[in-house]
Amino acid sequence: MIPYGCQTIDEEDIAAVREVLLSDFLTQGPLVREFEKKVAQHVGANAAVMTNSATSSLHIACLALGVSEGDIVWTTPISFVASANCALYCRATVDFVDIDERTGNISVNALEEKLLQAKQNNCLPKVVIPVHFAGAPCEMDKIADLAKEFDFKVIEDASHALGASYKGKLVGSSVYSDITVFSFHPVKMITTGEGGCLCTNDKHLEITIRKLVSHGITKDPADMHRADPEPWWYEQQMLGFNYRMTEIQAALGISQLKKLNGWVAKRNQLIQEYQSKTEGLPVDWLNVPDDSLCSYHLAVIKVDGESRKALFDFLRSHNIGCQVHYIPIYQQPFYHHMGNHWPHAEKFYRQVISLPLYPRLTGDQQDYVVQILWEFFQ
Ligand SMILES: *Cc1c(COP(=O)(O)O)cnc(C)c1O
Repeated sequence: MIPYGCQTIDEEDIAAVREVLLSDFLTQGPLVREFEKKVAQHVGANAAVMTNSATSSLHIACLALGVSEGDIVWTTPISFVASANCALYCRATVDFVDIDERTGNISVNALEEKLLQAKQNNCLPKVVIPVHFAGAPCEMDKIADLAKEFDFKVIEDASHALGASYKGKLVGSSVYSDITVFSFHPVKMITTGEGGCLCTNDKHLEITIRKLVSHGITKDPADMHRADPEPWWYEQQMLGFNYRMTEIQAALGISQLKKLNGWVAKRNQLIQEYQSKTEGLPVDWLNVPDDSLCSYHLAVIKVDGESRKALFDFLRSHNIGCQVHYIPIYQQPFYHHMGNHWPHAEKFYRQVISLPLYPRLTGDQQDYVVQILWEFFQ
């Protein structure tokens, strides 16, 4: 089976992990800090804080922005469930904003309309979480304007978008948001096994995030309640978690990050091949605005809703591990009580299939996928 996505691990990655296994620290050593500096530098943020997943990063991001019971968080229904669950971990309520079908991203028009209504009903969101679907950045300048006007915070769920850029700045620079979250799950842009991180330019947020990731504890004497603390003294100042990344993961991440730019280029090149080789087929590709570079975590095509299931079955029966991204979150049994009020998300969902896309997908493999697509439509 050719999967829809998978990791790329080379000898250099393996050597880096082997080396850390033989070193003094498996956790809370120097490599996590080094990986944080390298990611922050790469994306152009003041700080990055590593965690054990994007899911825990989203949880921490909500907590750091003060999300709690009685608050409202909005996100897009076309995402992985973690984009919504993070609000519920904080006992907030979650609601969805419909999408722009051209990109699969949150629609800024729908967002503005919903904000105007919410203002009248006195139920504005505290936080909005746009998701850069497939690695194409959302219209962040407009979202940032709305955040100012309606006084909400923004968390970018950039799980797909490490290496993507928007108006000349890499996603993660967080110039249009309070916090940006990345995932290092194996199918994402780079991997640490499980892993994630938060990027921010706000020093106070960074300090809170660091505490929340590690039990709510600080070991920084300058930040303690106690004056003149003993050398063994540490302080738990809030209820935090153990969401830390290990040194083993960081060693892998540092090694993977070196290859990111090449992989983004390779993914873009593979997409161009797909697009030119499927010209003439009743297949649409997602729109990427001219002011953006898409990292292409996914190769999403749109077909007629009537033939999507048959195409999915046809591809799978030819050992092509296609997927559907995403089942709208409101369709999950856990979210069923919310109803079905997002017609563009609904239509998008009926049309999409993700084709295989990852840096070591070979030309032959890609040609085979294309050939099966042509066979299906003949
Ligand atoms: C993968 C993903 C997550 C969760 O990432 P983990 O690192 O597996 O926790 C969250 N949001 C989106 C959009 C994702 O694709």
